Amino acid sequence: MEKMEQLYEGKAKRVYATADAEKVIVSYKDDATALDGLKKGTIAGKGAINNRMSNYLMQILEKQGVKTHFVEELNDRETVVKKVSIVPLEVIIRNISAGSFAKRYGVEEGIVFDEPTVEFSYKNDDLHDPLINSYHAIALKLATKEEIEEIKAMAFKVNEVLKEYFINLGVKLVDFKLEFGRLSDKTLVLADEISPDTCRFWDAETNEKLDKDRFRRDMGGVEDAYKEMMHRVFGE
Ligand code: UDP
Repeated sequence: MEKMEQLYEGKAKRVYATADAEKVIVSYKDDATALDGLKKGTIAGKGAINNRMSNYLMQILEKQGVKTHFVEELNDRETVVKKVSIVPLEVIIRNISAGSFAKRYGVEEGIVFDEPTVEFSYKNDDLHDPLINSYHAIALKLATKEEIEEIKAMAFKVNEVLKEYFINLGVKLVDFKLEFGRLSDKTLVLADEISPDTCRFWDAETNEKLDKDRFRRDMGGVEDAYKEMMHRVFGE
């Protein structure tokens, strides 16, 4: 399958049309942004790592009955995915306190929750992706009530599958962000990516951070953290 015209360029990916109206090609960049776009940089090798890891995880999820946008990996950076209209919500699942949760509620990072939590942000750059509750999302017609219920069920299922998968690799899945899309027939599928850009991964023994927090917080060792996650997943 060949790339045709570019449809969209985001912070970390470009999206191209294909000859098939129901499919697009995603191309992953090494560019990274954080802190609401204030911080910009590149993470060498990130595009290939995120592409391959995300595709691999989506295939694991498909086997467990989670519908995803994944179609076919073309090369290190490019993947054919089903064309979707993105539900403009960032769906965040947390198993352990960190990041904005710890800050918002004035608690330390690392508190292990008895049950995972879910929250939504409204994907809107002008408004800086504000936290939103499901009633507001429905009122704003971002999703229907039925879609919200399905999104929550799918997100918790993703968490169960991935939490188990990563702990077997010696990695705690602290929290992550998912995005969902609608196919032309309105079927909801998991879209976007699952990678060290969108998940917090902590080494199970040392709690060392193996994700984008190293970039966000200027901790150094960013490339090595992404490579370490690649190594845990693919053994290479
Ligand atoms: N996240 C993301 N994109 C965003 C915001 C958050 O992928 O625009 C991910 C982030 O990597 C983390 C989880 O969602 O795994 C929860 O992030 P949090 O709300 O703690 O925000 P942060 O502290 O990253 O600003």
